[in-house]
Amino acid sequence: MLNTIRVEENLQAKHIRPTAMRILVYKLLNSANKALALADIEHTFSTAERTTLFRTLKTFEEKGIVHQIQDGTGITKYALCEPNCNCELDRDLHLHFHCTICDDTVCLTEHKIPHINLPAGYKAEDANLVIKGVCDKCNSL
Ligand SMILES: [Zn+2]
Ligand SMILES: [Zn+2]
Ligand SMILES: [Zn+2]
Repeated sequence: MLNTIRVEENLQAKHIRPTAMRILVYKLLNSANKALALADIEHTFSTAERTTLFRTLKTFEEKGIVHQIQDGTGITKYALCEPNCNCELDRDLHLHFHCTICDDTVCLTEHKIPHINLPAGYKAEDANLVIKGVCDKCNSL
């Protein structure tokens, strides 16, 4: 488990004031090893207001702490960015893997989204590439 001092440093490095709630959400995302939906986070912090949690995620997203993932389930999920991530296309954006059995979605950070040469006049702003299949856990059952 990541210690609180490290989390505070990581948040401050991105100009985010390390409130107790932000530290808890960061730690949860860090220990999850998969992308989490707002509902998953709500479930863990049942005493917290949904709006507070949502705002925490939005702040994290704006400051480059987390990125959103659309894995085809219709539920937006969030995962921590790598330390030096700017969520830039052609540099930071990576593939995701969605398991059709357990519904887990994970980052494949070592596999960046390949550069696509678009037709003249088209400008890419975002990309979302999800591989679907069976994860290692489900595969070994
Ligand atoms: Zn990012
Ligand atoms: Zn699975
Ligand atoms: Zn990711």
